[in-house]
Amino acid sequence: MGTIPRVNDAIERIATWAGQAKTGVAFTGAGISTESGIPDFRGPNGFWKRNDASKFTIQNYVQDPEHRKERWRQAVEGQSFMRTDVQPNAGHVALARLEQLGSIRGVITQNVDGLHQEAGSVNVLELHGTAKKIGCLSCGERWPVPVILERVQAGEDDPQCTYCGGILKSATISFGQQLPTDVVEEAQRWSVEADFFLVVGSSLVVSPANAFPGVAKRMGANLAIVNREPTDLDGMFDEVVLADAGPTLTALIERVERVRT
Ligand code: NAD
Repeated sequence: MGTIPRVNDAIERIATWAGQAKTGVAFTGAGISTESGIPDFRGPNGFWKRNDASKFTIQNYVQDPEHRKERWRQAVEGQSFMRTDVQPNAGHVALARLEQLGSIRGVITQNVDGLHQEAGSVNVLELHGTAKKIGCLSCGERWPVPVILERVQAGEDDPQCTYCGGILKSATISFGQQLPTDVVEEAQRWSVEADFFLVVGSSLVVSPANAFPGVAKRMGANLAIVNREPTDLDGMFDEVVLADAGPTLTALIERVERVRT
């Protein structure tokens, strides 16, 4: 059997699960946003190929003003996740439609780019925070990204909180920071209750996020993954589609539309 018929068979089977699902869940990683022009972390053009991962800790951010200045400089140059020039792609749109159709209750995402919400997804659990906001590490006040980047462009190379003087940082979770407990608990509940669980664009190496597909599987969900490359966890999936997210999810949604509408 050739590769294309095999992929079509897999999409057909996933569409059947999506068509019947009552408590489905999508789980996404950086791979769903590469078609919008945002590099993933571990792919050939990945972020960690150009940046030293060991420096991206919360401790280093708090202790080293030079590191913060470098991060703000990168942000105004559009070299960070605080970008405003990217749009959702067909994959994001298809997942928003799956939610509208009732095939999934929402998306658990490791991404920080906000593109699921921009595509129309309503229920989005952001495990690693959001790069759409900048927050104060002391008092918790938050601002939209452009408000703070304007201050950087106007000459503040390490802007401080206007209320308490605290350190400002993208509202993403850095190494060494705790994941938001309420979001993790809700993601756990969705995974336990899932009858269909669809992973898209994740290498499934980042813990604890990568535990959710296993939870869903143990509780009896039909488990599928759409990813460009194999992952170490592929063996536990009921269907593995090695392909790009946008075209695959577009083909999936065409089939689910026929069943659900
Ligand atoms: P990862 O970089 O470890 O893995 C991405 C996976 O997606 C790879 O296996 C790759 O083969 C696959 N992929 C790339 N393009 C694809 C496409 N078009 N279609 C299908 N698959 C594709 O990413 P991860 O598992 O999400 O973990 C990395 C961490 O990186 C996450 O914690 C996340 O917070 C952060 N991150 C977020 C963004 C974002 O918000 N867009 C971007 C990079 C990294």
